[in-house]
Amino acid sequence: MAVIIDKELCIGCGSCAGACPQAAIDLDGEGKAFAGDACINCGMCIGACPVSAISAPEEEIKADKEWKGVWVFCQQTDSQLLPVSYELVGKGRELADSCGEELTAVVFGYNVWGLDSLIKAGADTVLYAEDRELSLAFEIPYASLMCRLINEKKPAVVLYGATPFGRTMAPMVAAGLRTGLTADCTVLEMDEETGLLKQTRPAFGGNLMATIVCADRRPQMATVRPGVFTAPAPDEKRRGRVEWVPWSKAADKGLKLLDFAAAKEGRKLSDFDVVVVAGRGIGQKKNLAVVKELAELLGGDFGVSRPLIDEGWAEYPHQVGQTGCSVAPKLLISLGVSGAIQHLAGISGAQTMIAVNTDPEAPIFSVADYAVVCDCMDFARAMIEELKGQKA
Ligand SMILES: Cc1cc2nc3c(=O)[nH]c(=O)nc-3n(C[C@H](O)[C@H](O)[C@H](O)COP(=O)(O)OP(=O)(O)OC[C@H]3O[C@@H](n4cnc5c(N)ncnc54)[C@H](O)[C@@H]3O)c2cc1C
Repeated sequence: MAVIIDKELCIGCGSCAGACPQAAIDLDGEGKAFAGDACINCGMCIGACPVSAISAPEEEIKADKEWKGVWVFCQQTDSQLLPVSYELVGKGRELADSCGEELTAVVFGYNVWGLDSLIKAGADTVLYAEDRELSLAFEIPYASLMCRLINEKKPAVVLYGATPFGRTMAPMVAAGLRTGLTADCTVLEMDEETGLLKQTRPAFGGNLMATIVCADRRPQMATVRPGVFTAPAPDEKRRGRVEWVPWSKAADKGLKLLDFAAAKEGRKLSDFDVVVVAGRGIGQKKNLAVVKELAELLGGDFGVSRPLIDEGWAEYPHQVGQTGCSVAPKLLISLGVSGAIQHLAGISGAQTMIAVNTDPEAPIFSVADYAVVCDCMDFARAMIEELKGQKA
């Protein structure tokens, strides 16, 4: 539903039209502003109007049975779906199964490769909008199209990867639909009694976990950082359908993408199958070289807890945890890490975890598969010796 413009108050200055990212506002024959169909109700014009002539419609979204199914927005870059898309499709499948509903993966792009892989990962339907204009992920047209599709098809739940792009687009959709959005969830589950999505995330500086529900508005929306959930193994026998959705070109007004330069970056910590994480228990900066050597011998990379970043021992991309990155490797070796809640938020997706700590009561042991109580540097050196012996 579009914003409401009070014609009596409107002075026809055009500030609202200039502020509208959708180019949805124009002046009518009497020089008064009006909002067209492209309006996504984002509210940019409301702040821009000097005479407070614009307001948001008081639309009552009933959380009724009309809103059904789980959607996952699957981001692509260079026509390749990002790994977080599969991680969320896996989680989306679980949520959809627990309420007996369908799972839909939503993809916008051009020549996007491997749509059927989303079906093999658990989707029943892939909603696909294709256009050259959509090849570069650009928040404004994507948010506008997403709002339109959600209004048409009414999903109960929508999940987004908390990538820089997802973190920008999802709030635009939430504002456009006047619904809630819980950022950086680490646990998602359906409440069997109420049918509500329980969205759990660290709160109050990470000192407690808060579970949030969106009881009155729809859809219920959440973002999840890459690496929090594990992508499911593809099921080659799964069948589903790809439904093409129409896309109409946005007007050439408002914010316009002129060019795009991809950041030159190598493999990220979250891309590795093996991660060796060092905590304050390694004692000295020079011991990080031993940790790196162990990680390399295992074909992986090293991560660190936050104090090591604060000390300047390692660069920020290696920080694991709530304010660093999340990792979901096949094997995680944790050396001298206590296991604070903010750290655990970044390693919950690890498939197998070996934790080494001198304190048998260290909280890290409560999430580890193998607990080793000893000096972590002795452990790391012994492993290096063993691995080198195997290679010789
Ligand atoms: C808002 C907020 C966000 C945060 N974000 C993050 C984050 O993203 N990532 C993060 O890691 N932290 C984060 N923190 C900090 C977090 O609360 C902890 O302080 C931090 O994780 C502790 O790091 P640590 O386990 O390396 O150090 P410590 O808590 O000091 O633990 C060191 C451990 O090493 C053990 N040890 C000591 N010597 C040895 C030895 N020789 N061999 C084996 N074990 C030994 C000790 O028994 C101890 O368990 C955040 C905090 C806040 C408030």
